[in-house]
Amino acid sequence: MSRRPFLAGNWKMFKTGDQAVAFIEEFVPLIGDLTDRDAALAVPATALQRAADAAKGSPVIIGAQNLHWENEGAFTGEISAGMIVSAGAKMAIIGHSERRQYFGDTDEWVSKKLSAALAAGLLAVVCVGETLAERESGRTFEVLATQLKGSLADFKAQDEKNLILAYEPVWAIGTGKTATKEEAQETQAFIRKELGSLGLPAEAIRILYGGSVKPDNAQALMAQPDIDGLLVGGASLKADSFAKIVKYGN
Ligand code: PEP
Repeated sequence: MSRRPFLAGNWKMFKTGDQAVAFIEEFVPLIGDLTDRDAALAVPATALQRAADAAKGSPVIIGAQNLHWENEGAFTGEISAGMIVSAGAKMAIIGHSERRQYFGDTDEWVSKKLSAALAAGLLAVVCVGETLAERESGRTFEVLATQLKGSLADFKAQDEKNLILAYEPVWAIGTGKTATKEEAQETQAFIRKELGSLGLPAEAIRILYGGSVKPDNAQALMAQPDIDGLLVGGASLKADSFAKIVKYGN
């Protein structure tokens, strides 16, 4: 089955509204018409509205980096799926390893956030990945199986068009250390098999790789059969480098 490539940037805690608009104005002409792939940017909450306005009429999908599962309430500092939609955004990253590591996101929370995102009509990018200690002790597959089972506990198969998985080995994020294409392929094939064992339409679900992706390794990663897209942190902060990644192979 052919899965439409999905190239997403994650700006983390970088860029103001003005900087987001300037980026998009530079980036959109660089990528041109995207007929055979999707491009997305997960921006800080304070830049969502302005980024969505600036990207209007372009192929660029704007998304949030996190959300709360409740629609509203006494949750200081949080934003809901409804707020993301009303800002004009269409996507949310859920369970990024930095959320899991520094802000206490658990698989149970990821599952609740995923349900809220899908109910609001957002495209959800759910992240999983092992730490270096877990990989070195031979526990990668066990860790991923647990994360997938917990994070997708309430996921219903009819929503597969709005679910994207991202395999992000924690040891490769922001470290300059990329998983080899063989390591990424082997692990992503395992994730696809697990999705199948959870009763989900695994062949239809896109699985991204993330971890020190750069313009010069994007094409080799994308040539792997189970890598359907890339989630890019550092190299998505400059319009020309992210445009090169989005246009890999051209
Ligand atoms: C990320 O933020 O999801 C990421 C993979 O970061 P980097 O590309 O900088 O490793």
